[in-house]
Amino acid sequence: MKLENIIRKNIANLQPYSCARDEFKGEASVYLDANENPWNQPFNRYPDPLQLEIKNIISKLKEVPANRIFLGNGSDEPIDLLYRAFCEPGIDNVVAIEPTYGMYKVSAGINNVEYRKVLLNEQFDIEAESLLASCDPNTKLIWLCSPNNPTGNSLTKSQIITVLEHFDGLVVLDEAYIDFASHESLSKQLNHYPNLVILQTFSKAWGSAAIRLGMAFASAEIIQVLNKIKYPYNINILTQRQALTMLQQEKLVKNWVKEILHQRTWLQNALKSIPYIQHIYPTDANFILIRVNDANAVYRFLVDKGIIVRNRTTVSLCAGCIRITVGTYEENSTLIETMLSFKG
Ligand SMILES: *Cc1c(COP(=O)(O)O)cnc(C)c1O
Repeated sequence: MKLENIIRKNIANLQPYSCARDEFKGEASVYLDANENPWNQPFNRYPDPLQLEIKNIISKLKEVPANRIFLGNGSDEPIDLLYRAFCEPGIDNVVAIEPTYGMYKVSAGINNVEYRKVLLNEQFDIEAESLLASCDPNTKLIWLCSPNNPTGNSLTKSQIITVLEHFDGLVVLDEAYIDFASHESLSKQLNHYPNLVILQTFSKAWGSAAIRLGMAFASAEIIQVLNKIKYPYNINILTQRQALTMLQQEKLVKNWVKEILHQRTWLQNALKSIPYIQHIYPTDANFILIRVNDANAVYRFLVDKGIIVRNRTTVSLCAGCIRITVGTYEENSTLIETMLSFKG
């Protein structure tokens, strides 16, 4: 794969905005370059446009060099930027597994890029051949999500590798739930596959959905392209500071993950006692997909009792399915008690 063959011409030719903090990096005692107000420290100053302090910590944690890391306003930002950098509106297309996370399709729609769905098999797993068969010379991105949302399972690694090896566009692998999975991230493979883009997020295991911080790991060239087209100061200082705070609490986060996994096992067992549940799908994430007779009725019953789960019954291959996030022991117990009182 050559990046110059898949990047949009206008993006390749773009002269990016050069902000004050791009032109002078480093320490100084007097800053009179950015038309900032000299008072109200630290919020008077523009934040680091490349968030290097955060990236250096993430780099150690994930064993990915800092120049292979992009930080965005949630995963939403790299998802959108990948379309804007690589997909010519009205001409190019992308291929994605189905069912999966809804933002890939929404972002395709916003960018006027054709979105081709390839159904997963009955085990909710990918078959590389059928994904590759849906590609044509205008296919620029393939969207994979593992562990997948809303199904919860991980995709088979050898099939992901086959896709990486046979596709000359970018393969985006969304690992939002990787911290809950029984296997490791594919980030170790970034060196081998220059067409691999991995997405992770602070929204799930890191307990920081509100600060909006998403990560993309890819080749230094791909990261450069994303940096070139992002808003100059896309990560505000409040988010940067809170991210640093969280990154210093790795132990706490690990304990949260451990407890969620423990609760997930408890919930899986407890759900077995509910007679109208037809199937509890295996999960590698912090949620469990179940299939019931009448998902709408169960969903409405729970909402009436003040318990909100996600009704996924209209999603492809998910008729009758409800997605349940693993909560605290108290929350999970309340859910089970309430579900037992439903006589559908
Ligand atoms: C929750 C989730 C995300 C996180 O998105 P953010 O914009 O980072 O909050 C990304 N991908 C998938 C598949 C998700 O389920």
